[in-house]
Amino acid sequence: MSDCIFCKIAEGEIPAKIVFQDNHVVAFEDINPQAPVHVIIIPRKHIPTISDLTEDDQELVGYMHLVANKIAAKNGLTEDGFRLVTNCKKASGQEVFHIHTHFLGGREFGWPPG
Ligand code: AMP
Ligand code: ZN
Repeated sequence: MSDCIFCKIAEGEIPAKIVFQDNHVVAFEDINPQAPVHVIIIPRKHIPTISDLTEDDQELVGYMHLVANKIAAKNGLTEDGFRLVTNCKKASGQEVFHIHTHFLGGREFGWPPG
């Protein structure tokens, strides 16, 4: 999508610190990190929100979690663990309308979340 910031990052039109990419997924450092490791994992396919997923997307969304495990391994977080967050629409505070999973690691996280 032409005016989507995450599509532009995936296309290389906007710079980002990319930590992983392949034909399906791109992962890059969050510009406003909330943890020592804060990576945004996106599909290359433009899907605005989790509510817009279809059955065609189920493999892709599952694969995003496997990419999270690769990022954990790269950062030495497989044993300690990490947090994955996906916001959906207004109640969650979603700001960028291209689905993404936040990978957060390197510190302890509270529960319940804010
Ligand atoms: P969300 O509220 O779940 O939509 O989160 C969007 C996230 O994208 C926020 O954590 C932002 O800091 C991050 N973000 C926005 N623009 C960029 C960018 N150009 N590069 C990296 N991260 C970004
Ligand atoms: Zn997009």
